[in-house]
Amino acid sequence: MHSYAIGVDLGGTNLRISAVDENGTLLEKTTLGTEVSKGRDFVIGEMTDAIRTLRDKLRGTGELRGIGIGVPGIIDMDTGLMRESPNLPGWSEYPVRAEIEKRLGTPVILENDANAAALGEKWLGAGRDQDSLCMFTLGTGVGGGLVFNGKIWHGNNGMAGELGHTVVEPEGHPCGCGGRGCVEQYASATAVVRMAHEAIASGAAPELKRAAETHASEFNSRVVYQLALQGDKPAQDIYRRVGRALGIVITNMINALNLPMYVIGGGVSSAWDAFAPTLLEEVQARSFIYSVTTPPATLRTAPRKTTVITRALLGSDAGLFGAAKLPML
Ligand SMILES: [Zn+2]
Repeated sequence: MHSYAIGVDLGGTNLRISAVDENGTLLEKTTLGTEVSKGRDFVIGEMTDAIRTLRDKLRGTGELRGIGIGVPGIIDMDTGLMRESPNLPGWSEYPVRAEIEKRLGTPVILENDANAAALGEKWLGAGRDQDSLCMFTLGTGVGGGLVFNGKIWHGNNGMAGELGHTVVEPEGHPCGCGGRGCVEQYASATAVVRMAHEAIASGAAPELKRAAETHASEFNSRVVYQLALQGDKPAQDIYRRVGRALGIVITNMINALNLPMYVIGGGVSSAWDAFAPTLLEEVQARSFIYSVTTPPATLRTAPRKTTVITRALLGSDAGLFGAAKLPML
């Protein structure tokens, strides 16, 4: 009889629930909208109902190893308390794990969503041949996760891997965390749009201006990427800034940790072609490593001591697979 686990990825937009077996095969997947505005009790109710439905459906088909849940926030790993969650208003200082366990009548493992994504990429994605990696998730914000010897590194009180708030410009743009010049302010989807508006305001980006007017509220990082692909210089410059910021942070990580692999995922990573050349230039110029390889095709053949900087392979499913892996570690 095979064994499986239930993995949950709670995002600001979607709530996704999966069942994954010990080999990484996806058995079931459900996607629900996250109606954050209806409050945490409603969202937790939707989540626990869906978990129960899935558990009942699979009853008797295999051994349920446990339930792992990725949530967008900083979690106190000892108490299961959500310390901070910018995308889930009203959830801060809330005993999320205890509430879910009470409703389900069973223990669950709660994890930061970017940490879960890093574990997912380690298990089944870009890092499947590596023991350790560092992952950046470029979305609305910038998330990070560290996997050391197959396990998520939580640090002293659970907030390790908050790589989005490592500093690349000491006097730079103010950040929601209270600091300034965090990489999140230069490499997130939000930052790309902000930098586009800054370029438009300077009067030197007519194509971006036209696109912002045409797309109105739909003007996003993908639109800026399309312009970059078409050769628009201001749009290309924005993605160079993305690459530079990431290159600086990854250099610091390389020099501090000397991990074999740095993975970049999240929606903005689809603009890889526009930011990766600058990122790699920065790393080559600044870090102590002597070689970098990037395309996934070379992962298996890369020399043992090469540092790999690469795109994530699992897309938006990384966090879902990683959450399911938690009870199977
Ligand atoms: Zn910050």
